[in-house]
Amino acid sequence: MIPREYYHLVKEEGGILTEQQTLRVPVAYTGKTLHSGIPVHMRLLPAPAHTGIMFRRIDLPGKPEIPATAEHIVSTNRNTTLGNGVARIMTVEHLIAALRGMGIDNVIVELNAGEIPLGDGSAQAFVDILREAGLSKQAVPRRYVRLQAPVWVSRNGSHMIALPADELKITYTFVTDHPVVGTQFGEYTITEAVFERELAKARTLVFGCDIEQLQQQGLGRGGDLDCVVIVDEEGYRNSLRYSDEIVRHKILDVVGDMGLLGFLQAHIFAVRSGHGLNRELMYRI
Ligand SMILES: [Zn+2]
Repeated sequence: MIPREYYHLVKEEGGILTEQQTLRVPVAYTGKTLHSGIPVHMRLLPAPAHTGIMFRRIDLPGKPEIPATAEHIVSTNRNTTLGNGVARIMTVEHLIAALRGMGIDNVIVELNAGEIPLGDGSAQAFVDILREAGLSKQAVPRRYVRLQAPVWVSRNGSHMIALPADELKITYTFVTDHPVVGTQFGEYTITEAVFERELAKARTLVFGCDIEQLQQQGLGRGGDLDCVVIVDEEGYRNSLRYSDEIVRHKILDVVGDMGLLGFLQAHIFAVRSGHGLNRELMYRI
């Protein structure tokens, strides 16, 4: 659980005052999902100030809602899954990244299944529908989450440190001994323009040798060469969108996971972190 002090770290005045934003009109998207591989219909609806990001499972009795907050994370096995009671939503991270990356505070996300559509494996499909809907300012100041002191987590050679800052900046080192992928480094200050231009199109990496194991676990059924970057001993099996697409996607995942805190202002240094360590850092924040 996030300690209640969390709320005292919220900044309501000073610095750059930004108004909360929602969508101008509802927008819909239908697509298959990464892990379960089934088609899902998703609608994004405008929401009042202070709603935050709220998921709604319209296929379940009572249409249960799941707030997109760190307290509602129930799994971080190759994706971030949120839950509330028996209701679950898998693979929320790329949608949340797009919502936060594009500056959206308040939205209701209706789904007729338990997983977010994959899109093309990046956040681009979500950026496209957000652009289609347009944004609407809500005349209420945005609440930022700020740090009063550094926080860090370290586990099995993966590390994350978050330092107090006036913006969200992510410095990521992706480490692998794979000869083709190698070590990749990226550093971005997350603004709407940077998110859309540098990060939104970056896709998930899957190692060829992991595909069979993922499928045995019932994960990755919807993945194909168009929507994941696959690399095996011979090299990349598909063409890259950026030469360092992998580290950009890892930064996209950090934006999405940290988006469960709201709008975080911190400088995050991450080495080899994934959804599990992202969650641990959030709990410490
Ligand atoms: Zn991802």
